[in-house]
Amino acid sequence: MSIESIQKYNLESYKLRKPQKEDLAQLLKACQKNLSEQDKERITKAFKLCYLSHKRVKRASGEPYYYHPVEVAKIVAKKINMDVTSVVAALLHDTIEDTDVEVEDIEYWFGNEVANLINGVTKISGVFETRDAKQAETFMKLMLSMIEDMRVILIKFADRLHNMRTIQYLVREKQIQISSETMDLYAPLAHRFGLFAIKNELEDLCFKTIDPVSFRYVARKLREKKEDRETFINELMMPVGRELAKLNLKFEIKGRPKHIYSIYRKMQRQQKPFEEIYDLFAIRIILDEPHTKEDCWRVYSTITDSYTPIPERFRDFISVPKVNGYQSLHTTVITNKGKKVEFQIRTKKMDIIAEEGLAAHWKYKEGNQDGSKTLDRLVSWVREALENPMPDSSSDFVKDFQLNLYQEEIYVFTPKGELRTLPFNATPIDFAFEIHSEVGERAIAAKVNDKMVPLRHKLRNGDQVEIITGSKINLNPDWMDDVVTHKAKSRIRQFIKQKQRKVADIGREIWEKRCAKAKLEITDQELTRVVRKFKYESTQGLFFDLGSGSIELTQVFKEAKKFKSTGKIDAEEDHIQDLQDSSSEKVYQKYFDAARSYGQGNALILNGDISHVKYNYANCCSPIPGDEVLGFISRNGDVKIHRSMCNNAQHLLKNESDRIIDVKWAKSIDSTFLGAIRVIGEDRVGMINDITDILSKSLSTNMKSINVSSDEGMFEGIITLYVDGIAHLDKIMKRLEKLQGVKNVLRYE
Ligand code: MN
Repeated sequence: MSIESIQKYNLESYKLRKPQKEDLAQLLKACQKNLSEQDKERITKAFKLCYLSHKRVKRASGEPYYYHPVEVAKIVAKKINMDVTSVVAALLHDTIEDTDVEVEDIEYWFGNEVANLINGVTKISGVFETRDAKQAETFMKLMLSMIEDMRVILIKFADRLHNMRTIQYLVREKQIQISSETMDLYAPLAHRFGLFAIKNELEDLCFKTIDPVSFRYVARKLREKKEDRETFINELMMPVGRELAKLNLKFEIKGRPKHIYSIYRKMQRQQKPFEEIYDLFAIRIILDEPHTKEDCWRVYSTITDSYTPIPERFRDFISVPKVNGYQSLHTTVITNKGKKVEFQIRTKKMDIIAEEGLAAHWKYKEGNQDGSKTLDRLVSWVREALENPMPDSSSDFVKDFQLNLYQEEIYVFTPKGELRTLPFNATPIDFAFEIHSEVGERAIAAKVNDKMVPLRHKLRNGDQVEIITGSKINLNPDWMDDVVTHKAKSRIRQFIKQKQRKVADIGREIWEKRCAKAKLEITDQELTRVVRKFKYESTQGLFFDLGSGSIELTQVFKEAKKFKSTGKIDAEEDHIQDLQDSSSEKVYQKYFDAARSYGQGNALILNGDISHVKYNYANCCSPIPGDEVLGFISRNGDVKIHRSMCNNAQHLLKNESDRIIDVKWAKSIDSTFLGAIRVIGEDRVGMINDITDILSKSLSTNMKSINVSSDEGMFEGIITLYVDGIAHLDKIMKRLEKLQGVKNVLRYE
């Protein structure tokens, strides 16, 4: 706390003047009735600080600024029925941002709880103001994740409500901006919190600001129809009223809708004139206290004695209340003139809950308004509401909001709407590893907000991220530069090491084979000298380069032999070695010769007239005409054709390069080949049908097999089909890629 503040605002001894005393009295009147002396003192002290700290500032309306926090505190107290701590926080909600009062001062005067609430309100304002767009549900989750104390949001609603009530003093541009933000964000949120009265008032205020002409039209119509409607209701209630009087039931009738925006929206949605919509509004019969739910049933039976009910339109929300606590009996009857009219029957208490929602709950379910029990109830109520989304609430929401406030972290969502926190600059790769290391390893593509993006795309706050995975590990060492999370980094690093080890193992094998072939035993010490000679840090490094082909085996071998013979070149041994080399090669020579004799130049020509050389296509990679291919001569002289890219072929190239033969496709080929592709996409109804349709009908391609698996809404199909070459297969792949829901089509190995 700062000494200056405490000296400057001498709260204990400051005497309020008459007008402020009256303002304070009004506020206290808005608070709950049984305020203790201590509570009154707290509110008075907060009122003084509110008044003094904002003293020199005026609002756009020209009124003193402190009117605003006082009005907000009144809404908090009366309309939302919140506790004294919230009222105090509401009075001071703008002090930290707009005055010289600091959090420490608030803590000193009013304690931690109030300080935290005000801090929360200040923080959450930033979230609201910097948002761009998002669904109601996810926005709510974001809010929940950031706020420990729900009262922060409720004070924020009260703040916004008063700002909307006084919006006419701002410039037009600002009015529109604030109104649409309120319509998009605050009103649906208020609805979700069950603050129905606040939601309705916010909507009407926004509507009035954004579309004053339509607002005035509906308002005028409502005034004009007032008498008609009252006459209609009176006539309708005549026979019912007599019976109810006999039963000694006291009630009130509400038959005129007041929420202008909802009437307008119904007109728009149903494309009907005001009159038709207006007539559809239900007539509410509200039983005075202390009538009970049994009395509601009595009213119901009286009404249905006078008018014929439509059975399908009957709803009993008394025995089975809605999630938000709404209770009422609904019945639609046909009047003597053949008109349909809906009645809603409920007690006074049920009506207050229906109108005020959560705020009323609070008042009724907990005798007192203070204490953590009430807050627990509120939190669980909101969470419950989130888990049982109301069908109408998720649609009208803005997209993708930005939170400049929390630069160091971003919030993104899974396809199911779960919230994940990632560091700033995170990419879909980070996100994938965050979900599961397997998802990260198999990630092949990503969708952000339903658009395909590269895996190295930088994620932004509010993004909804979907990772498309393949069945194989697709981890790329280059990703190291594109990740920021520890999880992703360590897994990629581990992968690189593993991969290096594998290549080094291959290098070691090549080396050992070469030494064995030369019948040369190189000791570890000699090998170390070779390693140093080529400036490697370790044997592993040398083997890695041998395995990857970055250094030539002959070169290294020659050097090793030099060391073996104490630095001199042993010419004789070299010569013997050459002889041995050529003789071992002879094993396959006759096959080479046979194969090449049917080819051109040095290559075996595939699919030509070469009946003398037996060859077949490798199952592992199913090469088709147009693919880069190579042949591998087996021990019995058959030639196995692989795609050059095939992993097995790569392995053979490194380890048994002496058995590889160059092969070429014949210029014209008239047979068909077996190709395999992998289709990845959404697991939607009819996907398989659509794929087979495209293949058989529009591309006249025969399928050999289709193997489908689906998991968590993702579909993966491995399809083998008969094609006449790479062009044909390409065409098929391009065509399938365009299919609705298909995310990726790959050549399958
Ligand atoms: Mn404010």
